Amino acid sequence: MSRADAAALRAAHVSRCIAGRGIRDPRVLHAMSTVPRERFVPDVSLDTAYADCPLPIACDQTISQPYIVAWMTEALALKPEHRVLEIGTGSGYQAAVLAMLVDAVYTVEYHAALSKQAEELLKDLGFTNVRFRVGDGSLGWEAEAPFDGICVTAAAPEVPPSLVRQLRDGGRLVIPTGGRFIQDLVLIEKRGNDLVRTTLGGCRFVPLRGKEGWR
Ligand code: SAH
Repeated sequence: MSRADAAALRAAHVSRCIAGRGIRDPRVLHAMSTVPRERFVPDVSLDTAYADCPLPIACDQTISQPYIVAWMTEALALKPEHRVLEIGTGSGYQAAVLAMLVDAVYTVEYHAALSKQAEELLKDLGFTNVRFRVGDGSLGWEAEAPFDGICVTAAAPEVPPSLVRQLRDGGRLVIPTGGRFIQDLVLIEKRGNDLVRTTLGGCRFVPLRGKEGWR
């Protein structure tokens, strides 16, 4: 299939599974319509790449379901001048979607092999505003804090205190929390000394490892 076929499939997918399931932010819809998901899962067919489900990637990890990527991204209410931290680079797909919407993305991955592959792919796709780091993302990226948004794409038992500390006043953090296999997607908004916590709905992510994740 050609690049045009992929674009047509992507447009149909966004209309059915992303806009069709309630995502409204036009910038998020544009990013989802632009990032070529098929490049992040090169071993599967185009139809599979645009199925609304998570898919396996290297190191026993997964690329998230497209709807979940859009849902988390919309919940962050991102502006073009924002700096965003992502925990769990994985394939780099969520980082690419974020990078279309903000000034700078900082993404941390536990597995060096995944980080390297994602870095090469995003460079190849022309992204210049994403910085990669290998390490324990449950501790955030202290040197670059504070962030306007933090997107955690692996599930933690609780919201890691380090990440809350690294959120700017007025900033938003989305994170799946709960059990190892099934969780709630939680939005934390920092307003001065207050943290406003909203449960957005159920979800299923691979576990966040590390000091403030599942040890
Ligand atoms: N955002 C990814 C999906 C990632 S799956 C995408 O768009 O493809 C979750 C990722 O979190 C996995 O790659 C896993 O290795 C990583 N991870 C788990 N615990 C981590 C930690 N403590 N620090 C950084 N990355 C972690």
